[in-house]
Amino acid sequence: MKTEELIALSDKCIMNTYRRFPIVLVRGDGARVWDSDGKEYLDFVAGIAVCSLGHSHPAVINAISRQVEILTHVSNLYYIEPQIILASRLVKHSFADKVFFCNSGAEANEAAIKLARKYAHENMEGDKYQIITMENSFHGRTLATVTATGQKKFQVGFDPLPEGFTYVPFNNISAIEKAITESTCAVMVEPIQGESGIRIPADDYLPQLRKLCDDKGILLIFDEIQSGMGRTGTLFAYEHSGTQPDIMTLAKALGNGYPLGAMLATDKVASAFVPGNHASTFGGNPLGMAAGIAVIDTMLDDGVLDNCKEIGSYFLKRLHNLKERHAVIVDVRGKGLMLGMELSIPGDDIVKNIMVKGIFINCTNGNVLRFVPPLIVDREDVDRVITVLDEVLGSS
Ligand SMILES: *Cc1c(COP(=O)(O)O)cnc(C)c1O
Repeated sequence: MKTEELIALSDKCIMNTYRRFPIVLVRGDGARVWDSDGKEYLDFVAGIAVCSLGHSHPAVINAISRQVEILTHVSNLYYIEPQIILASRLVKHSFADKVFFCNSGAEANEAAIKLARKYAHENMEGDKYQIITMENSFHGRTLATVTATGQKKFQVGFDPLPEGFTYVPFNNISAIEKAITESTCAVMVEPIQGESGIRIPADDYLPQLRKLCDDKGILLIFDEIQSGMGRTGTLFAYEHSGTQPDIMTLAKALGNGYPLGAMLATDKVASAFVPGNHASTFGGNPLGMAAGIAVIDTMLDDGVLDNCKEIGSYFLKRLHNLKERHAVIVDVRGKGLMLGMELSIPGDDIVKNIMVKGIFINCTNGNVLRFVPPLIVDREDVDRVITVLDEVLGSS
């Protein structure tokens, strides 16, 4: 089918939930993708921080191809070897003792919310169910996770929303302290806010939050769906802070494009779940787990994290240089290859103009250009993005 015909058919039969660019992507390799007209793009979006090893990574292809021939799906009525292996890898390399597998970020957060409430009902005094989340956070689109998301624009039209969520400003410990009531059971936070424009809290924010939660006897949940799996140069972003949560959620890069989610917890908290409490038909199936094992092994063994750190700081330095040359750049910030450039103007046109020149970047929160490329990009890739950004920003 011709590109225009495909787009017309899409508009006819696919629900209108996304504003899409008028191209059809057909192939990817490393940090590059091609559209149906054969045009090549340097991809600094990576499926929104998903394809962190790059497109068509051979280790992931091999793992999925091998597994699909052996066993694809059997259900969690039985033990599944690749699930056990991936869980033990995640446990070995994180604070956590136990893992629950699902298929997306929102599902991982749903599981975290359910576990926190279950744990609270059984182990905390009084009736505790309320979860404090941050303004401008993003936790997903299911009813509970869109309610956890501290942004009205995602919630309008979906009333009644589930009870038990309270919002406070991000990066403000005393606001959390004031918001804690006798019904509070947990605080849920992204170590770096992604969707609202790569917002990084003060260095002492997470340690202070950990201490506050311990003092009040409530749980701390880190949503590392975007910041986790190597994105900031460490396997998990919380590692930079020297603190650990009680519960953590993962998704996006966990399967490098194979849909995977996970909710991790300490033994103490995880013990609130017993058979029958929570489940997912597809969660932890052999095919997805094979992808996940290939991802984590490649990430840890192949210099991916070092590259992320090195190229990330090079990129950030070059973005700072750009800021000196263009008055519209208000701020540049980020960690590893989770970077943002805040503008004093809307970013949509800039994203479009850069796309015409063969580069994908993304604009989030209206005026923040977000750069979340595969973690395998090199200096030349970064140089090209900087050159094109410089051109497109022109004299503004
Ligand atoms: C993307 C994202 C989610 C939602 O993940 P889905 O897989 O789209 O449900 C939740 N939290 C954060 C921080 C995210 O970046």
